[in-house]
Amino acid sequence: MGQDSNIFSGLEDLGFTDISNIEIYKKPEKEKESEHKNKPKLTEDMFLYDKEITCPVCESTFSARTVKTSGYRMKKRDSDFYITYEIINPYFYDVILCNTCGYAAMKADFHKLRQFEIEGIQKNIASKWHGKKYPQIYDINIAIERYKLSLLNYSIIDSKASKKAMNCLKLSWLYRELGDTKNEELFRKNALIGFKDAYLNEATPIYGMDSFAIMYLIGELNRRSGNYDEALKYLGDVITSRIANKKIKEIAADQRDLIREELKNAETTEDISDADTTENKKKEGLLSKLFKSF
Ligand SMILES: [Zn+2]
Repeated sequence: MGQDSNIFSGLEDLGFTDISNIEIYKKPEKEKESEHKNKPKLTEDMFLYDKEITCPVCESTFSARTVKTSGYRMKKRDSDFYITYEIINPYFYDVILCNTCGYAAMKADFHKLRQFEIEGIQKNIASKWHGKKYPQIYDINIAIERYKLSLLNYSIIDSKASKKAMNCLKLSWLYRELGDTKNEELFRKNALIGFKDAYLNEATPIYGMDSFAIMYLIGELNRRSGNYDEALKYLGDVITSRIANKKIKEIAADQRDLIREELKNAETTEDISDADTTENKKKEGLLSKLFKSF
């Protein structure tokens, strides 16, 4: 500020006495700020509405906070399919929970219950459920709690592996958002167990994924867990498939390249240290396998 007022000093005698506030450069940030003030600020609440739901377990009716279609504003997609959205995070509202009986499931599964599953929930969930009042806007910790309730329901009635796997994967994503790597890994490992089971035993599509997308995902989750051998096996099967679509083959190749790079770096470090440990031999074995396969 003080500097600005000195810029035109010395010109007073020439008739310019009131020029201390003149800026030589316009400040676009200021202009943008005032523009923003005129536009209505977008809030999470604007993208939510209450949807009336009838619980398939206790038949009570309740309203579920639901994200409007216009709220799905994608910002970026991670290599394990996690999508970051602008303004509102739709994953926060993915679990539908009946506050009367405690039945919870992800939106895609909520109404798909068989009679014996309903009975299982009545016996093992509803009988214990205390009830909880949630605020109108959910945060990440509420979302995690609701996904855990949903996972508990799936586990109690022994739902398909794919359901438990997807639920675990979403918990893993939320823990990543929190920077909690320990829990991210815990739920990623559990997701991996379920997706491998689903890949072998369930019909596709699974949550919109065909069998190649599932194979890719298993490969990528293995890569993230440091299981390079198994990751390369699944990614390789996608890459060499004749019928997988081009897009999934491309992203599989990208992730395979990341592993190759990682292994190359590990090899270089070994060369420098010139150590001949069992671990090094293991890595070499993995490398030769890698270059034979592709
Ligand atoms: Zn209910």
